[in-house]
Amino acid sequence: MIDCHDCGGSVSFSAASCPHCGSREPSGPYIQSPRELRFHRIEERNDQTLIGMLVLCTGIGFFYGAVTGGAWPAAGYGLLGALIGAPAGFIINVSRRLFE
Ligand SMILES: [Zn+2]
Repeated sequence: MIDCHDCGGSVSFSAASCPHCGSREPSGPYIQSPRELRFHRIEERNDQTLIGMLVLCTGIGFFYGAVTGGAWPAAGYGLLGALIGAPAGFIINVSRRLFE
């Protein structure tokens, strides 16, 4: 038996919800280990890198296309930038994981 995280009543450890207050997490919120937290932070930063690279490369491609051609080349180069940016961000993420 454990004390309910929300109301303090005793609850079976395996209970899915508290019989007293109906709390869905009687054992309290799941606490991540430092290792998990660290890994989660890397994952979060990886997402930011991927989106950042995608936006950056799309922007550069779009700008290049607009300067040299016009609306349609801009769209084409923007797409090309996105196609380069996504794997570029992915490579940065993989290399970061290797060195951290
Ligand atoms: Zn409770």
